[in-house]
Amino acid sequence: MKLLGKRGLGILLSFMLALSLPLCASAADAAEGTPAKPAKGGWKYVKGYKLYYDKNGKLVKDVSRLIGKQPSYVIKVNKKKNCVTVYAKDGRKGYIIPVKAFPCSAGNATPITTARTPSKYRWHRLNGNCYGQWCTRIKQGYLFHSVMYGRTTNSSLSVSNYNKLGRTASHGCIRLRAGDAKWIYDNCKRGTKVIIYNSANPGPLGKPKAEKLPSWHRWDPTDPTAKSRCRKKGCH
Ligand SMILES: [Zn+2]
Repeated sequence: MKLLGKRGLGILLSFMLALSLPLCASAADAAEGTPAKPAKGGWKYVKGYKLYYDKNGKLVKDVSRLIGKQPSYVIKVNKKKNCVTVYAKDGRKGYIIPVKAFPCSAGNATPITTARTPSKYRWHRLNGNCYGQWCTRIKQGYLFHSVMYGRTTNSSLSVSNYNKLGRTASHGCIRLRAGDAKWIYDNCKRGTKVIIYNSANPGPLGKPKAEKLPSWHRWDPTDPTAKSRCRKKGCH
């Protein structure tokens, strides 16, 4: 201290400060690319759910392939948020694994209820002289089904109703994208429990966005039987 004197100490301090600043900046840069969640992925219990994170710590929003086909599922419909989440069973802990989520259109008449699906139909006639694909009855006149078609052909889709997916629009049924209606039809056996509830929280996987279609796109891009139409047009 004696050697440097007050002025010398000041110079030394500002020199050290100048040196340390770029160090701080580079440390902050490195932190920016660091995920908020621990870098190691895998299954984690979070707020009563069992969730899967990838190696970057990002929530995986579809674990259907990861866990494979399950013997049973529970389907929960958030009527208020127009969001469906399918759950798989985690042993004795029950149906706490959210498998995948779908945007939907419920209706004001959709009942708040718990039911078990009694039947399914590949095509089914709906109210108002139109048809739905991959229909699963929830109870009474309430079904999961694709957005409606004018005929029983995959190229007569009601595009205006497709573009309402994610909003309340039906007479009470739960409308889905065709691919999502098919997933329920293919994977959820008769007798699957369906819980329809209201919450401001869409669900643990959030609510996926449904794509808006142009008026000429009179088929559902998620419909595997209509894939060739998209291929021909080069639109999907
Ligand atoms: Zn297309």
